[in-house]
Amino acid sequence: MPSQNNEIATSVSDRAVCPLCTAPTDRTLAGNISRPDNRICPSCGLVFQPRRDSSIEDLASCYAGDGYWNAETVKLSRFTRISVLDDVRRGRARLHGIEQISGRRISAHDTVLDIGCGYGGLLWQIRNKRKARVNGLEPSPVCTQAARSLLGLDVRQGMFEETECSQDGGYSLITSLHTLEHVADPVAFLRRSGELLAPDGLLYIEVPNLLNPSAGFPLTRFFEEAHLSNFSALTLRAAADLAGLKTVAQDTRGFLRFVLKRAGQALTPVYDAAHAEEVLLFLTSYHHGEQRTTRKLRTFTTRAGYAFRLACYPLLHPIQTMRILCRRT
Ligand SMILES: [Zn+2]
Repeated sequence: MPSQNNEIATSVSDRAVCPLCTAPTDRTLAGNISRPDNRICPSCGLVFQPRRDSSIEDLASCYAGDGYWNAETVKLSRFTRISVLDDVRRGRARLHGIEQISGRRISAHDTVLDIGCGYGGLLWQIRNKRKARVNGLEPSPVCTQAARSLLGLDVRQGMFEETECSQDGGYSLITSLHTLEHVADPVAFLRRSGELLAPDGLLYIEVPNLLNPSAGFPLTRFFEEAHLSNFSALTLRAAADLAGLKTVAQDTRGFLRFVLKRAGQALTPVYDAAHAEEVLLFLTSYHHGEQRTTRKLRTFTTRAGYAFRLACYPLLHPIQTMRILCRRT
């Protein structure tokens, strides 16, 4: 163990079981990079919070309000919360990104389910631009209500673990963006998602990337309370293998973006014993770089870029914007 990693990972008295490889670990990330108790698994490198016993009701209560979201239609709120228009704007880029990585253009024949859909900005784009049949599932009542009334979407409110959402013949596409890191049992979540797919259906998963914290976030913000698992490409792939899902395509340059399909059987994941050290070395170096001016400047320009693109959206897409604004109640 290189000594420089001791400052960001320390041993605690109790052991927690890794939800991927089931190895026990007593190593926790230090408070100067992670406020919640985040353990690192020495066998597979997954960083996770030992909150696996939390009931679905406990987890659901985290999303009882509007969470990251804000029910205002138009608001330059990117730094704090996400508005409906912001979600629609992001949905456009996400639709194109999903089609590009999966190599498949969504059509009117598709049936799409988005798990953890928020306001449903992605579903709105898929329905309006591709004419596909779309359904959403979202635990927040505020988001669900806004998706229904402002975007006219069919969104069910509830936790995926306890909500019926099967479709005759299965879904041809299931998407779940920035949701898997919030669930207590990511392998069970992926397995159930796979079971809801049509035989040739695709599952698109997008989560934050432990080895590329986006937009120069400080680690204390990246390791937030609601993120129960923090994946790298290796650990996300292991979770998919355990769930019986074959990786069709993956992009690991920013967020982790994986396209999966049913493999018909659980696959044997490959764990790299050196991965935990690789993760700790990366986090150490990232933590040391956080105070540098170049990192701060990059964070500022990235966020200013988000705000600028959101401000431009109504000018570039006036008809879409007016449609949403006119439904405002
Ligand atoms: Zn593990």
